[in-house]
Amino acid sequence: MTASHLGIYIWAIGVVAWFVIRYPYARKARRTRTVRVHGWSRERVLLTVAGFGLFVAPVLWLATGWPRGLNYDLTYAAVAVGAVLYVLSLWLFRRSHKDLGRQWSASLEIRESHQIVRAGVYRRIRHPMYASFWLWALAQAFLLPNALAALSGLVAIAILFFARIDYEEHMLTEAFGDDYRAYMRETKRIIPGIY
Ligand code: SAH
Repeated sequence: MTASHLGIYIWAIGVVAWFVIRYPYARKARRTRTVRVHGWSRERVLLTVAGFGLFVAPVLWLATGWPRGLNYDLTYAAVAVGAVLYVLSLWLFRRSHKDLGRQWSASLEIRESHQIVRAGVYRRIRHPMYASFWLWALAQAFLLPNALAALSGLVAIAILFFARIDYEEHMLTEAFGDDYRAYMRETKRIIPGIY
């Protein structure tokens, strides 16, 4: 098997794993009542953009071959780097779902009896799930042998992250006041000790 084919197979297995990990949490979340929704229409746009860059664009390229002119060959070294980033991403994705529990929502929401989570992977960074999305998009860039399919994930996550993060922290500060402000002082956003 060529490195390029291997990269595509690993990417596809990861996509399935991502949905398998999320499914039980998304199911449980439907039973948890929401008391506040923030920026509903902005969130719809952002989630659509993310879905497009991480999933639709690569699948369209795989199904149609377009844009063929942007294809290139991968090396096994690139695939190995991508696979390691992928495993890290899925691990962090699963852990953040476990730790966030019933406070999780796909868009910005405050749940009934919402509590701030500061334990587990939330101890040193405030947005481990978004960190896992960044790792995912980086892995995608190493695993797919086409410039559009490889880079669409990074562009989409950059848009989702930077367009959402201030609103999310503002919403949580509004809801939890000094508790969340203290948590912000003790932690970084996505890279421990750095950012
Ligand atoms: N930004 C977090 C969570 C993503 S899920 C992460 O990347 O891990 C989005 C929802 O999580 C938001 O609607 C918000 O209400 C909730 N949330 C974010 N951080 C939280 C925290 N520390 N404790 C409890 N809920 C949180």
